[in-house]
Amino acid sequence: MSYTALYRKFRPDTFEDVKGQEHIVTTLKNQVKADRIGHAYLFCGTRGTGKTTIAKILAKTVNCEHPVDGSPCNECETCRAISAGTSMNVIEIDAASNNGVDNIREIREEVAYRPTQGRYKVYIIDEVHMLSVGAFNALLKTLEEPPSYVIFILATTEAHKIPITILSRCQRYDFRRITVDTIAARLQELMAEEKVDVQDKAIRYIAKAADGSMRDALSLLDQCIAFYLGETLTYDKVLDVLGAVDTEVFSKLLRKVLEGNVTGAIQVLEELITRGRDLGQFVSDFVWYMRNLLLVKTSENIEDVLDVSTENRKLLEEESRMVDSDTLMRYIRVFSELSNQIRYASQKRVLVEIALIKLCRPAMETNLDSVLDRIRILEDKMESGVPVQASASSGKEALPQKQEEAEVKEPIKPPVAAPEDLQYIKQNWKSLIRETSGLFYQMLQNSVPKYNGDTGEPKLYVEFQSYLAQACIDNPENAVTLSNIIQKKLGKSIELELIIKRDNKEARTGLAEISVDDILKDKIHMDVVIEDDF
Ligand SMILES: [Zn+2]
Repeated sequence: MSYTALYRKFRPDTFEDVKGQEHIVTTLKNQVKADRIGHAYLFCGTRGTGKTTIAKILAKTVNCEHPVDGSPCNECETCRAISAGTSMNVIEIDAASNNGVDNIREIREEVAYRPTQGRYKVYIIDEVHMLSVGAFNALLKTLEEPPSYVIFILATTEAHKIPITILSRCQRYDFRRITVDTIAARLQELMAEEKVDVQDKAIRYIAKAADGSMRDALSLLDQCIAFYLGETLTYDKVLDVLGAVDTEVFSKLLRKVLEGNVTGAIQVLEELITRGRDLGQFVSDFVWYMRNLLLVKTSENIEDVLDVSTENRKLLEEESRMVDSDTLMRYIRVFSELSNQIRYASQKRVLVEIALIKLCRPAMETNLDSVLDRIRILEDKMESGVPVQASASSGKEALPQKQEEAEVKEPIKPPVAAPEDLQYIKQNWKSLIRETSGLFYQMLQNSVPKYNGDTGEPKLYVEFQSYLAQACIDNPENAVTLSNIIQKKLGKSIELELIIKRDNKEARTGLAEISVDDILKDKIHMDVVIEDDF
């Protein structure tokens, strides 16, 4: 039983069969019908979106003896010769392997002769961005004065590499990535024609994996059919052939990550590896899954933006409630970075593991979104009543009220700190806060110790520069921890209050920064008066 690749078998012969590029097809057909054909076209767009297919149909149309409504008849001698690749009128050049000046000079010499049959000589130059500088210059000369019977169709995936001199002489057409719906519909159609029994879910998975390329979709489908020839093609079989992962696994993984369960998350990964799943594919699918969750959380009309079945949408909605948008965005960022790194990495597994640890342990990262995630974890813990952040203080000193009770029982009270002591604290602030840990320590690094010099009241105010520190203030243990540290150093008791710098302009944006005078104070360890005018 011989098998012709779907991509070859179902290559469109007419403009009508080209899917997903209606804007281009309409314009070209109108040009043909009005006999206003250009001499240089530039077709840009990602691979497999129909650039060379449309180029060939156009070449056929302009030469067809009996074109039908702007499309080739596919029956006349000229059409048949072009389809068979025997026509002298259509010349296909792959610029990736013919990129030199000589190749283009050859074209220029040929261009001088009229076509022996048909109306136009059509040159299709694929991957045209690969031409050398010299070749582009040679091409430019031809494009400047093209004979009336010559059409150039330049195709490229990288339009930004085409010299502007060339661009300005071409009609440019941007090919779109083809939507999952369009690809799925086409695959469905072809499978009916081929009489292959295939599950809807399987088709949609392939359509999605093709990432906008009809050619990729067809060759993925080919792979799957070849593997299970004569059997019904199910979703599970497609996952097996493509080394892909089921959505349920993503849901399981996300739950582990949200729990901060590193071991659990790595176990899920281990299972995937044992089942022979492709890690690169897994990473990009997981990003896609989280992107869908984010859309469900943030969009009003999910149906319009989300390419999933009703049943899957319900699942996504349920899962989206477990996680907030900021956390999701951080996860997506970490995994998107990973999908770039993993492509050429030899230690794929280690990279995925590190990324999972990053998701579970935001404390290992230092940017704003991971700090927000840490606050989320703290809040979750506070809500569920789990003690937050292991502090240096022991149980009996844990709360201020208890400390007071202890003081009453204690025969010798430590002396109360005086304003000089506060000066000492200010000068040694950096080394004092180093004894704290976690988020509290991070926040203290952007804090200023202050006291009210006017009243001489021996009370230390710790002023945080960022509103994010509210999470630290809300946890009474923090003030106790810090006060214990200072008390130990001074040998004196100290009253202490944690506050957030008021009228912080940046507070709303979350980009709180220390002002210049705060940095100076921090470095010089004394009050600095900044004079406005000199
Ligand atoms: Zn024809």
